[in-house]
Amino acid sequence: MSQIETNIQKVLKEIDKAAQTFGRDPADISLIAVSKKQPDERIDAALSAGHRLYGENRVQEAMGRWARRRVHYPDLVLHLIGPLQTNKVKDAVALFNVIETVDRPKLAKALASEMKKQGRSVPCLIQVNTGEEEQKAGVMPKDLDDLLAVCSEEGLDICGLMCIPPADEAPGVHFSFLKTLAEDRGLKTLSMGMSGDYQKAVAAGATYVRVGSAVFGARQ
Ligand SMILES: *Cc1c(COP(=O)(O)O)cnc(C)c1O
Repeated sequence: MSQIETNIQKVLKEIDKAAQTFGRDPADISLIAVSKKQPDERIDAALSAGHRLYGENRVQEAMGRWARRRVHYPDLVLHLIGPLQTNKVKDAVALFNVIETVDRPKLAKALASEMKKQGRSVPCLIQVNTGEEEQKAGVMPKDLDDLLAVCSEEGLDICGLMCIPPADEAPGVHFSFLKTLAEDRGLKTLSMGMSGDYQKAVAAGATYVRVGSAVFGARQ
């Protein structure tokens, strides 16, 4: 068994354990292996281990890594988990299966229009800036409903919410906050939790955890 496969098994086991402890069905939680800045041999080891769900935070980098591999793995699922500029929307819609980082009306409109053009419907999450950090991507919580209204008008398929808690704060509060925001709006999907805190995210209701270094090792 490769080191990567061992890591994946270990993370999946931890997810199971946290789910059991907090009365959740492990089948409701999916592991997004975050492959950004990882070398080819680690990606191929994860694919050989049978893992098919990956997250990337840059469109160009993701195209370089996945466009050719996609041909060999038709069941591959790719999530965009990094900020998206409107000039990259065309490539993002063509490549990704889920876009997790919708955070402003202009982007929502550009995505909806590009999906119509390509005849391709890509489910999206809204990224919420739960810590209200100036420099961070994500819609401010007070602006969430206005953004949801725009998405609905545009016909964008919003299935849930995503967050990245502030680095210097306990993440659990942010996870619970995101869960409440989603629940109050009837949204089912919650993408939260990274290598350092994914068990806490499972406890708080995550349906996707985004785990990079605990699966692949340190990024290059
Ligand atoms: C890089 C990244 C991750 C994974 O981080 P790790 O700490 O390596 O698990 C998760 N989510 C987002 C949005 C990221 O950019």
